[in-house]
Amino acid sequence: MEVAKLNKILDDHKLWLQTNGEHGKRANLSYVDLSSADLNNVDLSYADLNNANLGSANLTYANLTYAELIYANLNNANLNNVDLRYADLRYADLNSANLDFSAFPLWCGSLNVHINDRQAKQLLYHLVQNVQYSKNTSRTMKKLLLTETIIKKANEFHRVNECGKIVLELDKEWIMDKKCVCGKELEHGKSLCYVCETLALLSPIGCEKYLEIKRRCERVKNINDIKDKRQNHNQSK
Ligand SMILES: [Zn+2]
Repeated sequence: MEVAKLNKILDDHKLWLQTNGEHGKRANLSYVDLSSADLNNVDLSYADLNNANLGSANLTYANLTYAELIYANLNNANLNNVDLRYADLRYADLNSANLDFSAFPLWCGSLNVHINDRQAKQLLYHLVQNVQYSKNTSRTMKKLLLTETIIKKANEFHRVNECGKIVLELDKEWIMDKKCVCGKELEHGKSLCYVCETLALLSPIGCEKYLEIKRRCERVKNINDIKDKRQNHNQSK
């Protein structure tokens, strides 16, 4: 799209916003090719950008609140510091888009979005960091999300050096089981009672609790392995 034509649309849109729709015109940029356009700091709130091509566009500091971006192409777009509150991003392609410091929306308008691994790690880091820190998430949630594999992936977040690496806290209360698989209260630091530990050693396949016993034994083994690794690492320092 020609720059002059685009500027006219943006001016009309600005007036439309300022006069609550009395004057000017809502920007209809649906299906429009805006690839590589410089839209820095532009107010495109409430604009129709459905199916628009915003590939490699510079949208830094733009206002995209309530904008419709369904099926929009945002490949390589720079969305740094963009306000995306209530933006409808469903089915949009965000491959390699820069989302740093953007207000990515938490409503169904941010579902079915094509994110890449880099963005997945960014979102995962935020989720996992909060789950680890929070006093309100349950033991079940912490056990599910705070695993070595997930934390390792989350720590691949491209700004991890600024935010700090998430560390698996092995000695926290939530990681320890309070009750054995048989329901018996456990001694502190134990994952199984004496009886179940003996059963596990005898590998009672077929026993309905075998899988849970096996899982716990593996977790204890993993935790001990990590502890050993850390100890060796500290000693070699
Ligand atoms: Zn037991």
